[in-house]
Amino acid sequence: MFENLTDRLESAFKQIKGEGRITELNIAATVKDIRRALVDADVNYKIAKEFTDKVKDKALGNKVLTAVSPGQLMVKIVKDELAELMGGSESDFNAKGNPAVILIAGLQGSGKTTFSAKLANFLKTRSRLSPMLVAADIYRPAAIDQLKVLGEQIQVDVYSEPENKNAVQIATNAIREARSKNKNVVIIDTAGRLAIDEAMMTEVANVKSAVNPQEILFVVDSMTGQDAVNTAKAFNDRLNFTGVVLTKLDGDTRGGAALSIKYTVQKPIKFVSSGEKLDTLDVFYPERMAQRILGMGDITTLVEKAQQQFDEEEARKLEKKIRKNQFNFEDFKQQLEQIKKMGNIKDLLGMIPGVGKAIKDIDISDDAFKGIEAMINSMTQAERTDPDLINMSRKQRIAKGSGKDLNEVNAFLKQFEQMKQMMKMMNKMPMGRMGMKR
Ligand code: GDP
Repeated sequence: MFENLTDRLESAFKQIKGEGRITELNIAATVKDIRRALVDADVNYKIAKEFTDKVKDKALGNKVLTAVSPGQLMVKIVKDELAELMGGSESDFNAKGNPAVILIAGLQGSGKTTFSAKLANFLKTRSRLSPMLVAADIYRPAAIDQLKVLGEQIQVDVYSEPENKNAVQIATNAIREARSKNKNVVIIDTAGRLAIDEAMMTEVANVKSAVNPQEILFVVDSMTGQDAVNTAKAFNDRLNFTGVVLTKLDGDTRGGAALSIKYTVQKPIKFVSSGEKLDTLDVFYPERMAQRILGMGDITTLVEKAQQQFDEEEARKLEKKIRKNQFNFEDFKQQLEQIKKMGNIKDLLGMIPGVGKAIKDIDISDDAFKGIEAMINSMTQAERTDPDLINMSRKQRIAKGSGKDLNEVNAFLKQFEQMKQMMKMMNKMPMGRMGMKR
């Protein structure tokens, strides 16, 4: 995400690194490079210029603190300004109502339907609400089926009226149905077109007046850069939406949409979506995004993701096993499962400061663990719980069963043994035990 921008900003900071203090003269090149980097990331020139003017004023106005070098100071100023540009602090999401109504709008292909399902899943699992999805796209029958398939995956009811061509009626009927079924939040997926057209705008506006939504979210594909910003403006003029959702942040996006949209429409980005899987939705935190853009990683999000997946009771049991040197392949497999549930592996690694840049050209797919899992799956239950049982003939069988060769099985067994030793050692160190409550 935003890798090119990250690189460019980093090299802009390098110019000022060796300087003893910031002056109008020595900051000029850095400021110019930052501006160019933003423009090349598809940020509107006016926004980029205003941004760098602010950065420059702040940098020159700052008394040089002896503890902070000019380079560090510039990074801090740029980080704060980036966060400010994207909205400052995170914004609220209002899901209170009987039921709360959330209207989803955007162009076709922006990721509306996928987002609607992700939001339902998010509200169900994280906020413990009882959502209902509504298919109000009356032009594409396939859209109804798509929402139904997604709804089934997350076990959320989907309301539709395939024969009805009146989106306002569908939406109002859906809300009545939701009340009778005790659903406390209704997410209405509206129709999208490939480009903005009057009929579509009128239709969404009519649905809005009829259902009086708590939130109107405008969904936009972040890969479309400046276009995204223009579309947002057109939708906001008609709908006065409450927030923006940026989708496809897992793709090769340059950053323009994320950085310009708040400035242009004065509406906050509320969620970011980064993948086709239904659990890849995050609340948008401007500060954390600014850190990621500057290659500082995002440890807070990483820890939160881990906390969502890891069960304290299970962690305690596991720790006990490690201490007694009983950690086995079954435990290892469960750990892999949990890590995979946290999201895309490359994204996760990218949240560790400095790692994102180091691995940006390496192809790390979610299949990275497949080989290991295949080997564990080819073991019998007894072998998984007691790795010592694995002798030569068993190794050969495991190799055959997993489509690996004997050397790979040997290497994996050896690595597993080393990992076990290391875990045991770390557990003996006072530091390793400090964080664990028991
Ligand atoms: P709609 O026409 O606006 O309802 O868009 P869809 O929800 O059908 O999404 C269009 C395409 O983008 C589909 O192939 C989705 O799987 C894909 N998509 C949606 N959100 C994301 C995302 O965050 N990341 C990626 N990589 N693909 C996405």
